Amino acid sequence: MEDELLGVPTLGEIERHPMDELLRTERLPHIWCPGCGLGTALSCFTSALMRSGLDLDKVAIVSGIGCTGRVAGYLRLDGFHTTHGRAIPFATGLKLANDDLKVIVFSGDGDLIAIGGNHFIHAARRNMNLTVICVNNFNYGMTGGQMGPTTPTGGRTSTSPRGNLEHPFNIPNLAAAAGATYVARWTVLHARRLERSMYKALLRPGFSVVEAISPCPTLYGRFNRAEYGRDMMEYYHQRAVIRRDAKPWEVDIDLAGEIICGEFVDSERPTFQDRLQEKFGVLRPSDDLELLQRPPVQLEAPSGIELTQPELPAPSAKTAPVRLEVPVSEAPCVERTGGTLEVRLCGFGGQGIILSGRITGAGAALYDEREVTLTQSYGPESRGGACSTALIISDNPILYPHVTHPCVMVAMSQEAYTTYHGQLAEHGVLLIDADLVEPDPDAGQQVISIPATRIAEHDLGRRIVANIVMLGALTALTDVVSEDAMRRAILDNVPQGTEDLNNKAFQMGFDYAQGLA
Ligand code: SF4
Repeated sequence: MEDELLGVPTLGEIERHPMDELLRTERLPHIWCPGCGLGTALSCFTSALMRSGLDLDKVAIVSGIGCTGRVAGYLRLDGFHTTHGRAIPFATGLKLANDDLKVIVFSGDGDLIAIGGNHFIHAARRNMNLTVICVNNFNYGMTGGQMGPTTPTGGRTSTSPRGNLEHPFNIPNLAAAAGATYVARWTVLHARRLERSMYKALLRPGFSVVEAISPCPTLYGRFNRAEYGRDMMEYYHQRAVIRRDAKPWEVDIDLAGEIICGEFVDSERPTFQDRLQEKFGVLRPSDDLELLQRPPVQLEAPSGIELTQPELPAPSAKTAPVRLEVPVSEAPCVERTGGTLEVRLCGFGGQGIILSGRITGAGAALYDEREVTLTQSYGPESRGGACSTALIISDNPILYPHVTHPCVMVAMSQEAYTTYHGQLAEHGVLLIDADLVEPDPDAGQQVISIPATRIAEHDLGRRIVANIVMLGALTALTDVVSEDAMRRAILDNVPQGTEDLNNKAFQMGFDYAQGLA
């Protein structure tokens, strides 16, 4: 019988993915969560861009901050990852300086419609020659799932746990009312239509906007009983309807209603650049300033210094678990600060570090009845970077909330460890995630390895509760918060319906730590 697969290349024979051309594969794997729709949105975009025939040397991509903001870094184009909300003004500057460029803004709903909301409407009003791809996941994903400008009324988020009271922005209506010349909305379930709209938007002069509604299962989905990507896709499947004749003001998104998709505006009017040219002729600030003619900077070593890559130290062996020598409350670092304990919990965004801080603070303040301050820090690098929450716990009034030398630290990612471990007070204790952190053997610190992520993933089947496993270990090994207070605070703060899972996670971390030799 003839081999049906004759001529079809095997996986081994396929050396390159068709999209490798446009991706910075050296930066992969990406940081997006399983089930996130950003991969689909990016794939639609790369496909539309390749089909558009645009000269890739003259395409620039600009992103703001957030999970979507990572796109600029993954595309093998001239890319700019700008500050929060400023993608559009940055792109405007690029386009004005060099009108030969096709400038595309690829960013999220929070970045473009909240922090950058004013830039969005004014760029549409001017009809700046830009294409904007706005990935709308109904919340601020990267920074912990807070309510955003597009969260549907009633939608639950980390900052609206009982449901959003506000009316969300209708992005197509906002864009259309402000003057955009092409406006479309699709969910990532409509991959082909999304790709087609992106293609059209890329070739349309003026301010073109494509909204891509995309699942954020890790945060928005989890708060709204759709914790897997497929649940959100199912939701789109049930709720999305295509209405080509819909007016932009009719396409509000209502939690229990339809998600109306389609092309809502497809028109032409003079762009800002057209008017500029009409009035002043061809302006090329990039030429006037000789920005593009400058020779590339040659880095030369000062005489006598050789520019060589420093050798990285060989990775050390994992630190063996150790048990605390003295209770934290009696440790010299606490005594020195008059009984006031500083604690820092850190990791990468999405690990529940901020929630862990809230739980710890609530346990200490509400149930142990101590004075507590809580500060948080997460930046644009949050997912994959170092986010942190810091507490001061004391029996006395706390005059200043800044944590400088924590006596207890938990580090759940390498970057967070690298960023913060130097702050640990002498004789302090550092709990690390055994599989995610390689401690510096020369740091001379008391390190306790807890396989929190492994326990959460393998024993509980839910990586997301690794933070609660770690809180169990923290409670067993230190007296930061009493066991009863921590248990009660966990139940107060975890999403409804997950109490059993979180209880189990806490117990497993607690038992593991108690069992350390
Ligand atoms: Fe995607 Fe949400 Fe994860 Fe961000 S937090 S990568 S939007 S699933």
